[in-house]
Amino acid sequence: MDEFAIIEPEAPDDLAIDVSRETPTLPQPLSPRIMVVANQKGGVGKTTTAVNIAAGLAQGGLKVMVIDIDPQGNASTALGIEHDEGTTSTYECLVDQYPIIDALRRCPDIPGLWVLPATVDLAGAEVGLVASVSRETRMKDALATFFEKYYVDYVIIDCPPSLGLLTLNALVAAQEILIPIQCEYYALEGVTQLLRTINLVKGRLNEELVLSTVLLTMYDGRTNLSSQVAAEVRRHFERETLDTVIPRSVRVAEAPSYGQTVLSYQYNSVGAQAYVEAAQEIAERGAKSF
Ligand code: ATP
Ligand code: MG
Repeated sequence: MDEFAIIEPEAPDDLAIDVSRETPTLPQPLSPRIMVVANQKGGVGKTTTAVNIAAGLAQGGLKVMVIDIDPQGNASTALGIEHDEGTTSTYECLVDQYPIIDALRRCPDIPGLWVLPATVDLAGAEVGLVASVSRETRMKDALATFFEKYYVDYVIIDCPPSLGLLTLNALVAAQEILIPIQCEYYALEGVTQLLRTINLVKGRLNEELVLSTVLLTMYDGRTNLSSQVAAEVRRHFERETLDTVIPRSVRVAEAPSYGQTVLSYQYNSVGAQAYVEAAQEIAERGAKSF
């Protein structure tokens, strides 16, 4: 592809502020909720949670944007979005300050769901941004510009398993954090460090930030370990932990290899239904407190 080609945004009219639409079945937040899915521990279900919660919210009639801020690009893959090197992506929005709308892609399977894809280029963004002015606020600034003209109910940001500059950009841009916790031994390991980072960001860069949601993932009802971990997490995060628990399920793990969320892949599976319920819980809680 010609590296300087101008890429036409795909039907941004859908996202225009005044566009009329049918009444969603899920409650709409009063203002856009920007949620970051973070946990620096790898493989705990961040991406799976980000894409399936986003799908659940969109399926409830809400407008949702997923921002993939992980160079692995797993969320882009799971949502069926092309993200080869050179695709206009999160990298350009952060490093070259492209408007988000120029890189936004429509999720092919789910109406109302839009994706800012990540490519491997994003691995270089940490270095590319190091000497830049306002390096921690690039995502926040990009979203502010987006919301001047366009509207979505939810922005869900999928983070890499680290607390570097990419995750920091997400934490500065967001109001809320959703932490997925895998129901395994060492589940809470690293959460303390994440909480420390959150407090640091809160104190210096983003007053608004709150840990609003904890979601238990990969729960295996046959093991004592899962129920012990779940009980411990609920003790630590009594208010934040959703009642819905995501079970370990083969369908959930298979869906990304078809470029699909588990909702579009097997809607009636237990995994898909758990994510539908979790999305509903998030929407209902949010309508009360945001
Ligand atoms: P990373 O830290 O690398 O970004 P992550 O936290 O985003 O990882 P995922 O990629 O969502 O984690 O999940 C890790 C692995 O576990 C994946 O192979 C995924 O398919 C699988 N997985 C996630 N949730 C479930 C589930 N409920 N049941 C079965 N497998 C799951
Ligand atoms: Mg991931």
